[in-house]
Amino acid sequence: MNFLSDIQGIHIKKNILLLEYTIFQLGGPCPFLIECATPQQLKQVVAKFSENKLFFIVVGEGSNLLVSDQGVDCTIVRYFSSKPQIEQEDNIITVSASTRADDLALFAVQKGLAGLNCITGIPGTVGGAVVGNAGAFGKQISECITSVSVLVPNGEVIDEEPRALDFRYRFSRFKETQEVISEVKFSLSKGDRDSLLKKRDEILLSRKDKHPDYRKDPCAGSFFKNVEPVAPEEKRQAAGWFLDQVGSKKMSIGGAGVFEKHANIIIKKDKSCTAQDVYQLSREMFKAVFDKFSLKLEREVRLMGNFEGDTDDRIIR
Ligand SMILES: Cc1cc2nc3c(=O)[nH]c(=O)nc-3n(C[C@H](O)[C@H](O)[C@H](O)COP(=O)(O)OP(=O)(O)OC[C@H]3O[C@@H](n4cnc5c(N)ncnc54)[C@H](O)[C@@H]3O)c2cc1C
Repeated sequence: MNFLSDIQGIHIKKNILLLEYTIFQLGGPCPFLIECATPQQLKQVVAKFSENKLFFIVVGEGSNLLVSDQGVDCTIVRYFSSKPQIEQEDNIITVSASTRADDLALFAVQKGLAGLNCITGIPGTVGGAVVGNAGAFGKQISECITSVSVLVPNGEVIDEEPRALDFRYRFSRFKETQEVISEVKFSLSKGDRDSLLKKRDEILLSRKDKHPDYRKDPCAGSFFKNVEPVAPEEKRQAAGWFLDQVGSKKMSIGGAGVFEKHANIIIKKDKSCTAQDVYQLSREMFKAVFDKFSLKLEREVRLMGNFEGDTDDRIIR
């Protein structure tokens, strides 16, 4: 990694365990992990990798990932900043994709700007949220995006409009292209600061009630996507409802189990839990729903690395 030595402020880590960089606290080794926090650092790193014709994959906070116990055989670029990098001009906000999604949501309400409460309390970065079109309560982050800055291999930046990004429920074109997102621009509407803050508190309380505290019960959020509505005017059906009907809350394999209050969240119940346990348990849950309802649940959590009994839709092998 000598070719990165003149880039200021990045950290290069060798032979680390990815469990230290995923919210699930699972995952084996990777040869190199490069930590970048700013668009400038990311741009230089991408350009250098391209010059040297080397493969890498970019991740955010690792809150939507299940990394295999064997780890991965390529460089991981971690684009994450614990310090928010946000600029505001009237109702337009430009944010580094390394900023935490919830830091952005808080910034917006503090400025009396509405539109981003749907990402309140969602772990992970703005970059990860754009990739998966994150959201809650029927609203998603893409609804107020005006442009996404994408780094192309030579380090050049291209600003893409949302209509080019194929945003759908928990999907964007980034899920298939592995392009790198450096910054995102949002257009928000003026709102009442106090009522936005009140709404934020309500959301945080409700999330606290329904979701595990991932510091105590590591997880990656909902394991499966909600199910397509049966008619266009209907809402999506919660995958958790189907999973509850087949008794998923009582299922466990090895150290992996299902969160007692949410039938669609797999948690690392104890230290012995492996990524393979989680994967195996997810397959049991899938099978139980298929056997009872002839319904094929789609995974929301992204897989990295090899799993026994694996499918093809991993980010990298
Ligand atoms: C307790 C809990 C609750 C959750 N609740 C919700 C919820 O309510 N709604 C919801 O939508 N999600 C939820 N999630 C899932 C998760 O928080 C989101 O998917 C989040 O947006 C992922 O962001 P991340 O930075 O952690 O991405 P990662 O998990 O690090 O990566 C996810 C994907 O994005 C790619 N990626 C990340 N950053 C970039 C970038 N800058 N450029 C290109 N690709 C990139 C990675 O390669 C990977 O494919 C929850 C997770 C947990 C643990």
